[in-house]
Amino acid sequence: MKTVINYIRSLFLFELLRGLTLTGRYMWTKSFTLQYPEEKAPVSPRFRGLHALRRYPNGEERCIACKLCEAVCPALAITIEAEPRSDGSRRTTRYDIDLFKCIFCGFCEESCPVDSIVETRVYEYHFEQRGEQIMTKEKLLAIGDKYEEQLAEDRLAQAGVR
Ligand code: SF4
Ligand code: SF4
Repeated sequence: MKTVINYIRSLFLFELLRGLTLTGRYMWTKSFTLQYPEEKAPVSPRFRGLHALRRYPNGEERCIACKLCEAVCPALAITIEAEPRSDGSRRTTRYDIDLFKCIFCGFCEESCPVDSIVETRVYEYHFEQRGEQIMTKEKLLAIGDKYEEQLAEDRLAQAGVR
């Protein structure tokens, strides 16, 4: 009996008509697709994109080389070297993130006691040469400088202030 029903269904193109009915139902409704890259989807303040190192408003780098981010990173993507400055403060001499190892878990950001290492909303980037995936301290600070306004706003949003 089941075979007969299946035969009749296939004879009258039942599955095709069912599919077309579904297509027709969505033909005049609002489109969910975006014309990327001209149109972009909204991005959450908690989005975990490209990393950055932030500075204080006086230009001093926030990172105190506590190495918590390096210790917590499950992908072992962060490499830090540090030594004391002449004024006794501790700062990094090397801060690298290997983005090929990074799994964008956000643990580094969560662990940082001074909001230094953060993940920006930037998701459009690429590498063309071998080794470019290593984000050095200079590169990370430059990204932080470029997006500081947005980063500060996002930290407030995450804290529930905005
Ligand atoms: S986002 Fe996660 S994997 Fe990437 S550097 Fe930070 S802690 Fe490591
Ligand atoms: S970025 Fe933050 S957690 Fe990592 S070493 Fe610097 S101060 Fe410590």
